[in-house]
Amino acid sequence: MTDRRLFLKASVLAPAALAAARAGATEPRGPVLTRPCVVSTWDFGVAANQAAWAVLSKGGRALDAVEAGARVPEADLKNHSVGRAGYPDRDGHVSLDACIMDEHGGCGAVAAIEHIAHPISVARRVMEKTPHVLLVGEGATQFAVEQGFPREELLTPESRAAWQDWLKTNRYQPVANSEVGTYGKTGPAPLGVPGGPGNHDTIGMLALDAAGNLSGACTTSGMAWKMRGRVGDSPIIGAGLYVDNAVGAATSTGVGEEVIRNVGSFLVVELMRQGRTPQDACREAVERILQRKPEARDLQVGFLALSKTGEAGAWSIQKGFTYALCDGVRQDRLLPGLSTY
Ligand code: ASP
Repeated sequence: MTDRRLFLKASVLAPAALAAARAGATEPRGPVLTRPCVVSTWDFGVAANQAAWAVLSKGGRALDAVEAGARVPEADLKNHSVGRAGYPDRDGHVSLDACIMDEHGGCGAVAAIEHIAHPISVARRVMEKTPHVLLVGEGATQFAVEQGFPREELLTPESRAAWQDWLKTNRYQPVANSEVGTYGKTGPAPLGVPGGPGNHDTIGMLALDAAGNLSGACTTSGMAWKMRGRVGDSPIIGAGLYVDNAVGAATSTGVGEEVIRNVGSFLVVELMRQGRTPQDACREAVERILQRKPEARDLQVGFLALSKTGEAGAWSIQKGFTYALCDGVRQDRLLPGLSTY
């Protein structure tokens, strides 16, 4: 089926999907990929997948693939939601979150790290070179510099201009503030409002290598104009990413606070362990968020999952979530995720 036909099918299915979701019915399955393969969130996942594929297609390890893939949007100066050129916090500091997890259950993460362009690689060093899982803030930057990562200014002129523009025109609303949730009733939130479009989008990447091993990576600059020190779901193992080599892997994007509250990616993997398809598990995780907090329907959260057998699936609260997939058959495929609303 062509991408367009798949897209139309997904659009047509959306209201039915909602009814089915309410009834607890099983959804149509997501695509089944051939091994090795890689999937990642959002449109920029297409380019990221290419870098991962360069590793996977040569028989490389999934862990190396997801690190290589995640570094692509981290380096992209046009991407303002990941890595270098990410939009800063409300005080003008670019602070980044990332985590990585391998087939052995090993994991590493950095949160609110500043001045380091490739937090995913620092997260891997935390996993491999320290007895810890998560380093934050100054300590994370210090560790990165000690490991030989260059200390850089990550705020580009373009991102600085966007921030200064936001300072002129926006009133800060922490995402926990319920006012954020009112935007969906009156139309989309303006650019720059936490929870609104265009001010956040994480790359979450999941790979299955030729040896049949899974790994995942997740990296973001988080929500634009966030409070200084705010950490989202992306560097939190179990929230933004979880890998269980016996079952599958999952990652998330969107308003991280809602994902953390429900330990989203761990939930998706546990549901897959209980026999749910990746897509159905993602749907259930979205439903869990909505059951506990119906106002979250005005926000966006999306989950992406990949099973041990190469079946993918995605689900989000609202329409608009996309994911990219790549295997020996399909190299640069972008698909819409199904959504509850
Ligand atoms: N999940 C990220 C965060 O809350 C942002 C996003 O994916 O849009 O920091």
